[in-house]
Amino acid sequence: MSKSKITVIGSINMDLVTSTSRIPKVGETLLGDSFHTIPGGKGANQAVAAARLGADVTMIGAVGDDSFGEMLVSNLTNQGINTENIIRVQDCCTGIASITISDRDNSIIVVPGANSHVTPDMIEKNEDKIKNSDILLLQLEIPLESVIRAVELAKKHNTLTILNPAPVMELPMELLGMVDYLTPNEHEQMLLFASTDGTEKELEKLKEKCIVTKGSKGVILYSNGNDVKIPSIPVEAVDTTGAGDSFNGALAFSLCEGMKIEDACRFANVVGAISVTKLGAQNGMPTKKEVEEFLE
Ligand code: ADP
Repeated sequence: MSKSKITVIGSINMDLVTSTSRIPKVGETLLGDSFHTIPGGKGANQAVAAARLGADVTMIGAVGDDSFGEMLVSNLTNQGINTENIIRVQDCCTGIASITISDRDNSIIVVPGANSHVTPDMIEKNEDKIKNSDILLLQLEIPLESVIRAVELAKKHNTLTILNPAPVMELPMELLGMVDYLTPNEHEQMLLFASTDGTEKELEKLKEKCIVTKGSKGVILYSNGNDVKIPSIPVEAVDTTGAGDSFNGALAFSLCEGMKIEDACRFANVVGAISVTKLGAQNGMPTKKEVEEFLE
């Protein structure tokens, strides 16, 4: 059987994580405790989640012409992801998230860098990839007009679309009407519905497309007007970073494998649970074998 084809269009970032006793005040210099560079970006994370499970994944995105860009592309290649369609933007930095963590607080600065160069024009150059994929998986860390163009092309070629509306923002009804599945977490769902001015009928339709992830409370999907609640798998959570990304990659994988939506959500719920038992977003994402062993 040929492998499921998933195209992920989204962000590729390096997370620069500093641990310190407290967050410095304005103008202050502190000695930190530790520093790590961790591959991230919702797009890249979701691509890794699907690839670990065995999907044939193509990542479309952009990195800068710096060493982070090189490291991130080889990280994706090492996971078996097709990286041919990732562009390297000259004189531009790779997207980064500078994260400072103390016991009590954290502070984060995100610089989108090359991710802003994933333009509608670039999406159009990849029309064939979108056409030949079973699933197109998107998030909101690249320009919104590019997300819209990608979904338009997917619709044109009957490629199923999953939009993970994170980080949440006001989205046009035109886009929401086109996507097949939306995967907000609880907080994103609330903001999404509060900021969208669709008709009652449009909002009802929107609700039917939503698969809402609720952390340790599991998942809710709306099917034929009914709430279907899928409880979470009880695990000892060590680090919930990237739980949503694991869920989305796994959802794309299982839908590609031909699972019905409810079964696909159950599978992704297991993958999400396993991912939180380990430190780090990509680090916690299980292979198919690990999922099978977990379920034995
Ligand atoms: P996000 O990371 O986008 O905020 P969630 O926190 O809703 O997403 O987590 C996504 C999914 O990961 C959940 O629906 C669930 O399947 C799984 N998950 C997250 N946290 C836990 C947990 N503490 N225990 C078990 N499963 C979890």
